[in-house]
Amino acid sequence: MTINLDDYIRKVPDFPKKGILFYDITSILCAPAAFRYCIHKMAEIYKNENIEAVAAIEARGFLFAAAFAYEMNIPVIPIRKKGKLPGVTLSKKYDLEYAQAEIEVHSADIPRGKRVLLTDDLIATGGTLNAARSLIIEGGAEVPSIFGVVGLPFLNYKKILDPTPVVTLIDYQSE
Ligand code: AMP
Repeated sequence: MTINLDDYIRKVPDFPKKGILFYDITSILCAPAAFRYCIHKMAEIYKNENIEAVAAIEARGFLFAAAFAYEMNIPVIPIRKKGKLPGVTLSKKYDLEYAQAEIEVHSADIPRGKRVLLTDDLIATGGTLNAARSLIIEGGAEVPSIFGVVGLPFLNYKKILDPTPVVTLIDYQSE
């Protein structure tokens, strides 16, 4: 079955605030053929890349990463907002448009010296993934690639995520 992923991405104007076009992936999750397409594509793209674990950002990123981890038989490492993880964590603050945010990972979850694919559902500015990449590297692993189902390249995420290669399944050119 051929899937046009665009058909499964709900576009919601002015969410969560005026002027933002929100690309909603919950409509992929509710269509098993589209969800399976995404996971099979990820598996195909990374099958020869020796990916040894997958890390993902709370919360929508978990959904794709967990299915990918199951498919590839590799660990999945959750990266969460501050205060959610009970064990010893590494944490990283980063700037949002008008505020600061902080993400954390269990340091014991990071496989030292291994190749960790970093994922999220959608890559906008790349700020969150940039902070997440720092955490994984600080924890002693490598990040050979960053994956997002959706990319918004006009927000220049490639610049901030350089030199890590970034792969997306579908890109949009406006917000
Ligand atoms: P960023 O750090 O700017 O790349 O984006 C942080 C998070 O915000 C990502 O995990 C996305 O899920 C979400 N996000 C940002 N912009 C949008 C958008 N236009 N539509 C849907 N999700 C978005």
